[in-house]
Amino acid sequence: MALAYPPFKSCPCGSGRSYGHCCGPLHAGAPAPTPEALMRSRYAAYALGNAAYVLDTWHPDTRPASVDLRDGTRYLGLRVRRAAGDRVEFAAQLRLPDGERYTLREDSVFVQVDGRWLYLDGRAPAGADTGADAGADSGPA
Ligand SMILES: [Zn+2]
Repeated sequence: MALAYPPFKSCPCGSGRSYGHCCGPLHAGAPAPTPEALMRSRYAAYALGNAAYVLDTWHPDTRPASVDLRDGTRYLGLRVRRAAGDRVEFAAQLRLPDGERYTLREDSVFVQVDGRWLYLDGRAPAGADTGADAGADSGPA
């Protein structure tokens, strides 16, 4: 079962809204209205260690058998750079288990199945190189 996270606290996805008015309802089973909302809720699920939600919102064709969210990675912030159609481009600030900071950039593709958005796959966005990003912000934490 997912960890309880106080609904009045600011949402881990960095939207600035409270968890109870942002990703909380999605984690409780409400369908995501848009690919961006799903992407944010998946990031929040990673941050909260909610592996079940990560897997539930993954398209069956590309879903891994399991995900390990207890490897010590910390999720420091999310920035959605562009959301259009079925695509969301984002940058996530991570701190890896060895303490190193890393910026994950991805251009994610989502598909709607039976009225619910699912994550299909992602790739590095055009023009992105390595994770080093001196000017990155970490969003409200
Ligand atoms: Zn959120």
